[in-house]
Amino acid sequence: MKRNQNQWFYFIIFCLLLILSSCGKKLSEESTLKRVEQSDQIVWGVKNDTRLFGLMNIKTGQPEGFDIDIARALTKEILGDEKKASFVEVISKTRIPLLKNGNIDTIIATMTITPERAKQVDFSDAYYHAGQTLLVKKGSKIHSIKDLNEKTTVLAVKGSASTVNIRKAAPLAKVLDLESYAECFTALKSNQGDAITTDNTILMGISEENPGYVLTGGNFTKEPYGIAVKKGQEEFVKKLNQALKNIRKNGEYERIYKKWFAKILRMMQ
Ligand code: GLU
Repeated sequence: MKRNQNQWFYFIIFCLLLILSSCGKKLSEESTLKRVEQSDQIVWGVKNDTRLFGLMNIKTGQPEGFDIDIARALTKEILGDEKKASFVEVISKTRIPLLKNGNIDTIIATMTITPERAKQVDFSDAYYHAGQTLLVKKGSKIHSIKDLNEKTTVLAVKGSASTVNIRKAAPLAKVLDLESYAECFTALKSNQGDAITTDNTILMGISEENPGYVLTGGNFTKEPYGIAVKKGQEEFVKKLNQALKNIRKNGEYERIYKKWFAKILRMMQ
């Protein structure tokens, strides 16, 4: 008799655990696509301090740039109206935490698809191809990563792929990690560092505005940008990829690309 009671006890505990674990699973797997459709808006995590990609226009109170326009075009594809895109500021190190906490539905913020990040989030297909390089003051003795040694300090941003890559590419150089690219540029101007390292795209934005500073040495990595969503949101990733295909087909992608990069491409020729 006692044995029978024990068996029941364990059986009930087992059932309770089963129910609890399936509840937990449901909560963590809440569908981003459903949420987006129900709320009729997509909350995008975007940069606010990165010229050309995501920069706050203080007059309009809206961020502007390539990432922002692509986000709007994709929102139009998915929800029928680009006005259904809303934007929340992220910086490199807050991108993944804000996504995981549910503060944003997705990230479009100069974010490289890396194997390390792909363990934490899922990515769309690449929508832009950048590469990491250096920005220095005109006349600097640094011409490429080969010139970075124990006497040089490179400025990078916390949470970026760039700060990881530079440690491998120039292991002798000192690396000073700051919060944002704006801070990096202030530090470069005040000689706290000899070069800034990150994607050519971001550095071109700084150089375009500050002609005394130039890109040097060419790209030493490949940085394919992806749109990140929470892990396990296959439906939403599929929607994003389809929307990306559509805007490439209907010319919207090219229009946005030219809007932001035509001048820079001309400058580089
Ligand atoms: N693309 C690189 C990254 O995802 C550098 C740019 C950035 O910090 O956003 O980390």
